[in-house]
Amino acid sequence: MPIYEYACRDCGHRFEYLTLATSPRAECPACRNHDLEQLISLSAVSSEASRQTHLARAHKKAAAVHNEKQHEDHKRLHQHYD
Ligand SMILES: [Zn+2]
Repeated sequence: MPIYEYACRDCGHRFEYLTLATSPRAECPACRNHDLEQLISLSAVSSEASRQTHLARAHKKAAAVHNEKQHEDHKRLHQHYD
């Protein structure tokens, strides 16, 4: 569901407004002004955040594989000198 954040150009009040097809035009709950600035959508922000989480997890996995490989190389080094 698209929830938008608005900032009132008149009084500067910021609020979230759920926009449905049947919803009336958003208005400032503080001063009833319709001159609003639409800020970034919250749903867009949350999907972007989860994408970042997935990326971070993928990076962690890649780092773990890398460490394992280094460990193997280190063992081989010991075998070489034993
Ligand atoms: Zn206002």
